[in-house]
Amino acid sequence: MKTFLSVFLSVVLLGAAEFKAGVARVNITPQLPIWMSGYASRTRPSEGVFQDLWAKALAFDDGRAKTVIVTTDLIGLPRAVTDLVAARVIKEYGLDRSRILFNSSHTHTGPVVRPNLALMYDLSPEQAQRLEEYARKLTLDLASAIGAALGDLAPARLWIGHGSATFGANRREPAATGVKIGVNPAGPVDHDVPVIKVTAPDGRLRAVLFAYACHNTTLTGEFYQLSGDYAGFAQAEIEKAHPGVTALFMQLCGADQNPDPRSKLELAEQHGRTLAAEVARVLDEKLRPLRPPIRTAYKITALEFAPHSREQYEKDLESKNAYLARRARAMLAAYAEGAPVRRTPYPVQALRFNGDLTLVALGGEVVVDYDLRARREYGTKENLIVAGFSNDVMCYIPSLRILKEGGYESVDSMIYYGQPGPFNEQVEELVFDAIHDVMKRVGRQPSRAR
Ligand SMILES: [Zn+2]
Repeated sequence: MKTFLSVFLSVVLLGAAEFKAGVARVNITPQLPIWMSGYASRTRPSEGVFQDLWAKALAFDDGRAKTVIVTTDLIGLPRAVTDLVAARVIKEYGLDRSRILFNSSHTHTGPVVRPNLALMYDLSPEQAQRLEEYARKLTLDLASAIGAALGDLAPARLWIGHGSATFGANRREPAATGVKIGVNPAGPVDHDVPVIKVTAPDGRLRAVLFAYACHNTTLTGEFYQLSGDYAGFAQAEIEKAHPGVTALFMQLCGADQNPDPRSKLELAEQHGRTLAAEVARVLDEKLRPLRPPIRTAYKITALEFAPHSREQYEKDLESKNAYLARRARAMLAAYAEGAPVRRTPYPVQALRFNGDLTLVALGGEVVVDYDLRARREYGTKENLIVAGFSNDVMCYIPSLRILKEGGYESVDSMIYYGQPGPFNEQVEELVFDAIHDVMKRVGRQPSRAR
């Protein structure tokens, strides 16, 4: 009787588990002192490891196709890396490109990932070589994390829930000279903490994917130890509370948000604990199940820069600002080759779990306005997560409002990214044209007239 009952129960439970899920991780901590990314002010390579850095992969099989989400404790994966990894995964495992999503946590206490933020650093040949080797090994590590997650596929159930955390603050502070990086309590924020829970059919927790829209920059330029910043601490805290479980963090549209307060190691740990506690609370709630199938769409659109001329870069060459001069050299070289940089490719992706959740993944450092506008357009009846920092991080992506206001996200950061200058005023509409297109392809319509 007992045997019959347990067989009966497992058949019923397995029958209800319409997904398979698999999870894997690879340690991507640099083994030698390495140049760290995100702050131009750093003058020497990393000094030890405070916390390991991870690439993690969460794979789904909805019975028709396999989909994988890769998260990394890195500043920003450029397409030079993700294209190589995706090509390999497409070839070896037969996944469609639209079913592979790469996200970067945007930690500023991790290594430079070349060519992301190419003009920010003054590297010795030895450090440059070390970074080339790191990027090369990273492509292998990401592919092997994906392979391992696909190899781990087993019956699973998925749920979605939402929490909230308030340490993310709008950082575009109005000042006499324009907009400076500070704290702006009146600026837009998104404090949502979406949580995707992955369990075995018997209810055992296997993985949790959570996300937040805030720069992973509690730790500022004077920190030289490697770590995942608040996102790394949050993942570690969740994994400590649930041994054997993998916690994955996705960075959302946090380009114009900073943790507040910041600049102390204890604060990074504190924000991590805050986020982990909120995820733990959501995990214990009654959550909405996610159903198959997963529909996906992926598109590369082009964003255009404002017009520029050879003359302006010839002038910049004389600038005392080393970064401006460096950018001018790169742009004049492009002019000399007859190929001035007028636009950048821009990836936009949607993953839709039946009618329960759509995950939109945008390239670049995306400001929160995109997330808020997408929520206004698509409504709250079905869950929506809008991630930035996905598939490629080629520069900041300002909204039209922020482009017009100016400041770091629209103008200054473009120099470090080696882009010719600000985008033209179409940027927001071009991104939304692509969002509308991928949303339509996964069957999600705006809930109100645009
Ligand atoms: Zn950033």
